Amino acid sequence: MVKTQNRNMSVPDTSDGAKYGNAVRLPSASLKTSDNSSNFANPGSTGKSGSSRRSSRSSSGNSASGGTEGTRKKDGAASRKLTGAAPRSMSGNSKKKSSSNSAPKAPAKAAMSKPSKKSTLSGSTKGAKKSAFAEEAKDIKNSGSALEKKGAFASVPDDVLSQINDTFLKTVKDAEKAFASKKEKHKLKVIPLGGMQEIGKNMTLFEYGNDIIIVDVGVAFPEESMLGVDSVIQDYTYVLQNKDKVRGIFLTHGHEDHIGSLPYLMRELKCPLYGGKLTIELARHKLMEAGVGTRGIELVYCAAGDTIKAGSSFAVEFIRVNHSIADAFAFAIRTPIGNVIHTGDFKIDFTPINGDPIDLGRFAEYGRQGVLLMLAESTNVEIPGSSPSEKHVGESFQRIFQNTTGRIIIATFSSHVHRMQQIFTAAEMYGRKVALIGRSMLNTFSVANSLGYITMNPSTLIDINDINKYEPEEVVILTTGSQAEPMSALSRMAFASHRVVDIHEGDTVILSAHPIPGNEKPIYRVINELFRRGAHVIYESLADVHVSGHAYRDELTLIHTLVKPKFFVPCHGEYRMLFRHAALAQRLGTPESRTFILNNGDVLEVSQDSAKIAGFVPAAPVLIDGAGAGDIDNRVFRDRRILADDGVVSVSIVLSKVSGKLLCPPSMQSVGFLFESEAGPIQHECSQKLYNYLHRLESSKSTKSIRDAAESHQIRDALKSMLYESTKRRPLIMINVLEI
Ligand SMILES: [Zn+2]
Ligand SMILES: [Zn+2]
Repeated sequence: MVKTQNRNMSVPDTSDGAKYGNAVRLPSASLKTSDNSSNFANPGSTGKSGSSRRSSRSSSGNSASGGTEGTRKKDGAASRKLTGAAPRSMSGNSKKKSSSNSAPKAPAKAAMSKPSKKSTLSGSTKGAKKSAFAEEAKDIKNSGSALEKKGAFASVPDDVLSQINDTFLKTVKDAEKAFASKKEKHKLKVIPLGGMQEIGKNMTLFEYGNDIIIVDVGVAFPEESMLGVDSVIQDYTYVLQNKDKVRGIFLTHGHEDHIGSLPYLMRELKCPLYGGKLTIELARHKLMEAGVGTRGIELVYCAAGDTIKAGSSFAVEFIRVNHSIADAFAFAIRTPIGNVIHTGDFKIDFTPINGDPIDLGRFAEYGRQGVLLMLAESTNVEIPGSSPSEKHVGESFQRIFQNTTGRIIIATFSSHVHRMQQIFTAAEMYGRKVALIGRSMLNTFSVANSLGYITMNPSTLIDINDINKYEPEEVVILTTGSQAEPMSALSRMAFASHRVVDIHEGDTVILSAHPIPGNEKPIYRVINELFRRGAHVIYESLADVHVSGHAYRDELTLIHTLVKPKFFVPCHGEYRMLFRHAALAQRLGTPESRTFILNNGDVLEVSQDSAKIAGFVPAAPVLIDGAGAGDIDNRVFRDRRILADDGVVSVSIVLSKVSGKLLCPPSMQSVGFLFESEAGPIQHECSQKLYNYLHRLESSKSTKSIRDAAESHQIRDALKSMLYESTKRRPLIMINVLEI
C-alpha cells in the first residue's frame, strides 16, 4: 500500500481524465532563474541579506540575460505536459538551462549597468527587454572593437562615439519608462465571493490585467432561518461576465466548503481545475454525480512544490499544509507586482497521519523574499495555544479499543481521511473488522483508498450486511452523522430506523467530531437516544477523540512571523474571528492601515505600495432550494416562518360577475392555525365577522368594490385584525375571489 503520495509516480492514464499539472517543479534553488525568466515578480533573486522587497527588486536585473531562454524552456515544458507527455523531469532541465544561460551575463551587465540600477521594472519585462538590449549592446561592442582593429572607425572622434553611446542608453531608458508606465496600469484585484464573515462557500478571485484565477468554489449550509433551503452558493455574475479571463480554478483541498459548489459554477464555466489528487477526484465525483460531467474541464493533479503558470500574470505554487483531509495545500501566487500567500485551511502538525508536516520552510522562504499580501484562515483564532496533533486521536482510539469488549461505532466527518486511517489502524491492532455506513463515507473511502491514501489489510474491510457474522468484539462500524443530521446513519441507528444496525446494550459509540455551532441540540437528542438504548457514549472527553484541523492562535502567529506580509486579509471566519485575526496581525507588526476585513464582493485593489477597497461586485448569497437556484427572496422565508409559527388561513369569496355582489357567505379554511378544541367556535366567529365586514363594504357607497378591496389587501388586513383579536396569532392569509 502506498501511504504517501509519490511525486515521481507515472502519469495516470489520460483516459482517467486527470493529468499532472503543466507544472514546473521549481526547487527553491532554481526559483531565482525561473522567476526571472517569466512575467512575474521576482521572489528568489536576492540570495543577499535580506528580507526586503527592495533588495529583490533591485537585484533582479543582474541575472536578466538568462531570462528569455528560461521562459521558452519553461513554456515548452508546460505545453508538453499539457499534452500528457512525461511530466516531472522537465523541472531539472529548466533549471539547468537557466543556469547555463548565465554565460552572456557579464558583457550584458557591463553594457547595461547604468539603466539596470535605476530600473523600476518588474523582473520579467526588465529581464526580457534587457536581454535583447544586452545582445545588441554586445554586438555593437564586439563589432566596434573588430572594426577598430581594422581601423574602420579610426577617424571617428572619441566624443562622437561617446554621443552614440549616450543616445543608445537614452533609448533604453525611454523604453524602460514606457514599460514601467504600462505596467503601472495594472493592479492586483482580490475579490472574495464567499468565505468572508462566514464559514462556508469559500471562493476568492485574483485578477491582474487580462487574467483571473479562482481559489476554491465551496458551498455553505443554510442558516436556521433559511427554512427549506438545501444549500447556499456564491453569486457568479462577475465570473461569468469575465469568463474569457479565467485561467483556472485552484482548489486548496477537498472539503465541501471549498469544492461544494463546483457543479453550479462548472455548468456555465469551462476552465482547468488544479488540486491535489484526492481533491481532484472528489471534485470529479461531484461533477459526475450532479450530471455536469467533465467535458471541457481539464482536471489536473498537482503535488507539493508544483508551480502552475496561469495566463501571463500568475504562477501558483502548491505548498504542503496539514489539515483534516489529505492533499491540503496553501498557495503562493506569484504576480507581476509581488507574491501572494493564500493559506487555505491549515494546521501545523509535526506528526501527521498521512504524508509530511506542513512545509514551513517554504513559507519562510517567501517571507524572506517578500510577500505583498497574505490571506489566512481564521477559524480557530479565538483558541489560544496550538492544536494537538491528529496522532493524539489515534492514541485515544487505541486506548478505547483496548478496553472495549462490545461493538464500537464511531461517527465522524465523512471527508476525514486521516481519522479513517486511524480507525483502521486501531482496528487491525485489536483484531477488529471495519464496516462503513453512509453514502458520503463510502464515497470518500473508495476515492481515498483507490489513490492509496488508506493503509490497511483488504480483509479488514467488511460489508455492513455481514456484521452479524462476527462477534461484537470483532466489529467497528464507521458512520456518518456526527452532526446528528436527521437522515444520517447514526441518527437512524439512534431512533431505531436503520435498516441493518440497531443499537443495543454493550455497544460503545464514539462521536469523533466537534459539534458545528448550532448543532448541539440535535446532537444531544441523538446522544440521549443512544444512552436510552443501553450504549456507552463517548462524547464529552472530545479532546481525546477529536482534534481540530484548523490552526490555533499560536500556529497563526508562527505563520505571520514567517511570512511577514505587507498587506493582510483574514478569511474563513465569522466577523469576530476576522476581527481578532486582524488584531493578531497588527500585534505582530502589520499596521492597521494594511489589514483589511473584507465583505464578500469587495474589490481589494493592491499595488506594490498600497491597497484599498476600490469597488464591489455582486456577492449576495444564492440559495438553492430543490431544483431552483437564486429565485428565492426574503419574502419566501418570511412566509415559511409564518407558516411554521401560526399556520395558514384561506378564504374564498364568491362574487357575481355582473353585479360584483357577494353570492354567498365567505368560506374559511385553515391549516396549522387552530387547535382542535377551538377550531369550531373560532372559525365560526371569524367567518361571521368577515361576512359582516364584506356586507358593510358592499353597501357603503363611498368605498371600493369587494374585488378592489381584495386586490389592495384591504380585506386581508381586516381579517388579520379579526383573527388576531380572537386568537392572538398571525397566520398567513390567502384570499381567493371567484366571480361567477
Ligand atoms: Zn477544510
Ligand atoms: Zn474550510
